[in-house]
Amino acid sequence: MKVGFVNIFGKPNAGKSTLLNALMGEKLAIVSPKVQTTRHRIKGILTEKDYQIVFSDTPGIIEPKYKLHEKMMDAVKNSLEDADVALLIVDVNEDLQDCDSIFNALKLKVPAIVVVNKIDRASQEKIKTTIDFFSDKSYCKKIITISATSGINKKKFLKEILDFLPEGEPFFGSEEISDLQTRFFAAELIREKIFELFGDEIPYQATVVVNEFKEKSTLVKIAADIIVQRESQKAIMLGEKGQMIKKLGTESRQSIEEFLQQKIFLELFVKVREKWRDNDTWLKEYGYH
Ligand code: GDP
Ligand code: MG
Repeated sequence: MKVGFVNIFGKPNAGKSTLLNALMGEKLAIVSPKVQTTRHRIKGILTEKDYQIVFSDTPGIIEPKYKLHEKMMDAVKNSLEDADVALLIVDVNEDLQDCDSIFNALKLKVPAIVVVNKIDRASQEKIKTTIDFFSDKSYCKKIITISATSGINKKKFLKEILDFLPEGEPFFGSEEISDLQTRFFAAELIREKIFELFGDEIPYQATVVVNEFKEKSTLVKIAADIIVQRESQKAIMLGEKGQMIKKLGTESRQSIEEFLQQKIFLELFVKVREKWRDNDTWLKEYGYH
C-alpha cells in the first residue's frame, strides 16, 4: 500500500482549499474570493484499497502582521516538516517571479509538483509560458495544469502523486476523512458565511468558536460565539433589528446541515474581545495553537 503526506502550499487565493475539496470529493476547507480565508492546517484523508494519502491544506503564505498571522505561518512551517510531496499551487495569472521566490523561501526538502491552477482563465500561450517558467526550477519535479473549480481528472492527478509516495501501513482508519472534529467544521462553515456576508473588514477581525455540540436523537444542537474586536463590529454583525445575525444564522445552519446531512439547531452569540488577534490567551482559546 502507498501511504504518504501531501501538503499543499501557495499564495493566498491560488486555489489550495478548492483543490483539497476537489480531491476529497467533499467540502472540508472553506473557500472564498477573499484572501486569507484559511487559518489552520486542514487534513483530508483519502483511503482506497491500495493507498492512503493525507492531504494538508494550509493558510496562504504571507508576511505576518499580527500574532494571528504568525500562528497561521506556523501552520505552514509545520506542514513543511512531514510532507512526502509538496503541491505548489500557482494561479496561472499571478506574478510567476513572486511565486518562485516564495517557493524558494520554503526551502523544501521534499520533491514538489507545481500545480498550475485556474487554466479556465488563461490562454494556451499563457499556460505554456507558465509551464516553461517552472519546468527548470530545481524544486519542480513535475507540472500539472488544472482548473480546480471546473473539475479535475482525479484519477490522473492521484497517479502523479502516488509515484512519489512510499509504501507503508495506513495511519488512519478507512472511514476517517479528517483529523479535525466536526465542531471545527461547524465553526469554519459559519466563518465562511461571515466572509460572504460582511464586507472586507469584519471577516478578518472575527473568529468563531463552537461552545456546544450536542447530538440529540432528532437533531444536533450547536451554540457558537462569534468573536469580534470592537463594539462597532458587533453592531454591524447584529444588523438593524438583528437582521444580519438572523441571516447569518439561517445560512450557516443550512450549510452545516448540508455538511452533516442532519438537522441542526444553531444558536449564535456575538462577543467583543479587544485585539484578540494579538492576544496569546485568546488565540489559544479560539484554537490557534
Ligand atoms: P486558497 O486561498 O488558495 O485556499 O484559495 P481558495 O480555494 O479559497 O480559492 C480562492 C478563489 O479562487 C475562490 O473564489 C475560488 O472559487 C477561486 N478558484 C479556485 N480555483 C479556481 C479555478 O480553477 N478557476 C477559477 N476561475 N477560479 C478558481
Ligand atoms: Mg484556503
